[in-house]
This record gives sequence, structure tokens and C-alpha cells, in this order.
Amino acid sequence: MRITLQHLTKSFPSRNKKSGEEVVAVNDLDIEIPDGKLIGLLGPSGCGKSTTLYMISGLQKPTSGKILFGDKDVTSLEPEHRGVGLVFQNYALYPHLTVKQNILFPLQNLKGEEKLTKEEMLDRAQHAADLVQIGELMDRKPSELSGGQQQRVAIARALVKTPRVLLLDEPLSNLDARLRLQTREEIRRIQRETGVTTVFVTHDQEEAMSISDMIVVMKEGVVQQIGEPQSVYDDPGNLFVAQFLGTPPINTFDGRVDHGKLFIGEDAVMDVDAPDGEVAVGVRPEGFVPSESGKLTGKLVNIEVMGRDCSVVFENSASRKPSVRAIIDADIRVTPGENNVVRFDLKRNKVFIFNNETGERIRF
Ligand code: ADP
Ligand code: MG
Repeated sequence: MRITLQHLTKSFPSRNKKSGEEVVAVNDLDIEIPDGKLIGLLGPSGCGKSTTLYMISGLQKPTSGKILFGDKDVTSLEPEHRGVGLVFQNYALYPHLTVKQNILFPLQNLKGEEKLTKEEMLDRAQHAADLVQIGELMDRKPSELSGGQQQRVAIARALVKTPRVLLLDEPLSNLDARLRLQTREEIRRIQRETGVTTVFVTHDQEEAMSISDMIVVMKEGVVQQIGEPQSVYDDPGNLFVAQFLGTPPINTFDGRVDHGKLFIGEDAVMDVDAPDGEVAVGVRPEGFVPSESGKLTGKLVNIEVMGRDCSVVFENSASRKPSVRAIIDADIRVTPGENNVVRFDLKRNKVFIFNNETGERIRF
């Protein structure tokens, strides 16, 4: 099912009665989610991800704008008629019911044409449970399951009505690191197997990057950029997006363009075709090439060996953080010169410059 959000806006009345200013949780959102894809809705806490998801589900009504499923306007359709499955961070299982009863639950109130026989219901529940690989746990209570297993039950329960759209709100946040990795691969597999259009909300950029066909990066209710994870990473439209994606994060510096030269502090690091002025410079950690004649200089703090790669941590007075982190191949030896000075050339496609006021990317 293709989902289209048109000028979707949601304001809440102010919680602070005195100020009276309303909170615009989602601001003029325009997205088209292609049929059968998994979309990662990504941004820091409070940027409007859950509100967007609840509007798609119908649990919240937009202040203005439209939601289409396929060509059909569903903006005022009740949640139970939208054919969406919802999964929350905290599983929300019924503790007194078994796994089987939890999964059966959404099927028991179907009416009219949708009504199922007992046998059909059991078949469907078993199928959903098998899909998330908890088919053997049907008679347990939620308290007898691990967090990861409970989340699978919640996913099975969302899938049992064969929804047209699956909505997941930070579904992995309550799991420990290992389970989180495993469960996110599971979600990807289930999504591929069922082909259900899925919106996956997370504040974790790595999580979103690793499983999404397309990511939507949001900040303060406003979409910053939409695209395939790799292309957003490689081609960020503004400083916020550049900083939000990537581990370790991009290094940022105070810089300036002067007569076709890009300066980081006093170092002229490369030729650029951009107007003169102060800029913010972002350099991805993988963008540094150690070289004795390198144009960017720094003072070595530490080299952290991580097996395949190593992290070279150094200080540079123009850096906006106390230290700069370069990731280089572990085979390359970094030998500091006098006074612990290290030198790097920069890979052109790993360097971005941004307008100092607006944060907008300046292409060079
Ligand atoms: P996210 O899921 O990205 O963390 P939310 O969509 O939950 O963000 O919230 C976006 C903004 O809207 C936040 O500033 C939040 O405080 C506000 N907000 C969310 N729900 C309500 C509500 N029911 N009443 C008032 N403000 C709300
Ligand atoms: Mg949320």
C-alpha cells in the first residue's frame, strides 16, 4: 500500500497555560512512501516521529493536511478501518493471557464479512507466530518470555490481521544490544517476506540506516531530508543531517572560503569553487589520509586500534569539539612529527561545507 502524506501538520495546545503558544509537533510534512518498502522515520527525541506515526494509524487526527492510502483519502477514517498494525516500544501485551490468546485477540472482534471461524483464527495466529519464530511458545505467558520474545509476540499480534501497513514505534528500544541487532534483522526479514509497507520510527541513526529502504530525517517537526540511507549519508543537505548520521559522527570545524581556497583554521586544505565567507566544515572520520605533506595539521592525542581500522584522535584549534577523530586502515602507520604533529590530506567527497547561519550545504 502506497502512503502519501500531504502538508500534514499537527499542533497541540500549550502545556504552559501562561505562554499560550501551541506546540507544532509535525509541520507541513510531505512524503510519499512507496508500496512494499520499509521507511525509517528518524530524528532526535521530540521531533514529531510518534505523532506522524499516530496520524498514519488514525489514533491522532491531523490539524491540517491529508493522508492517502493508495488513492484513497483516509484522513478521517477510523483507526480500525485503516488496516494498520501497530507495535510500540513497550510491547503492550496482556499479561494474564497466553501468547496464543494475545495473538488471537485482534481477530476476536471482527464483524460481518471479516468474521473468522475458530479454526481460521487459530490458523492465522499460528502462521503469524511461525513468521516471527515463536511458534513453540504459544502457551506461555508474557512474563515467561524474554524482552525480544515479547516484542515478537507484539509483532505477530500486529501482523495477524494481515495489515496493509505496519507501523513500528521504537520497537527495539527496550531490548539489550545483542537482541536489538538480532530483532532488527528479524523485522527486515518479516517485512521482506510479507511485503507489507512499513514505517519504522527510531532515534537511532544506525538502526534506521541498517534496515531502511529509505530514511526520512526530521528535526523539530520538519523534514530535513528523504532518501536512501547511503545517499543521505554521502550527500547531506544540511549540517544537522550531516551530524545526525554516522558513527563516529562527522567532525566539524570553523572554516572559511577565501579566493577559492577552503581554510580550516590557518590550513588551506583544498581548492573549492564557492563564494568567500565563513563556513562550517564537516569532515567524515573516513575522510582523512595521513600524509607527511598533508595540509590539515593537528596534535596527536591518541591512536585507538580497533582491529581492521584504527581511530586517530587529534586536536585542532578550529574543531568545534575538543578532539577530532579520523578512522584509517589499521595497516597504515601514523607517525607523528615533532611536537606530536600529525598531517592529513582530505578526501574531497568526504568534506562538506555549510552556510554558517542557516546550516544549508554549500556545494563546491
Ligand atoms: P518523538 O516521537 O519524535 O520523540 P513526538 O511526536 O512524541 O516526538 O512529540 C513531538 C512534540 O510534540 C514534542 O514536543 C512533544 O512534547 C509534543 N507532543 C506530543 N504529544 C503531545 C500531546 N498529546 N500534547 C501536547 N504536546 C505533545
Ligand atoms: Mg516517540
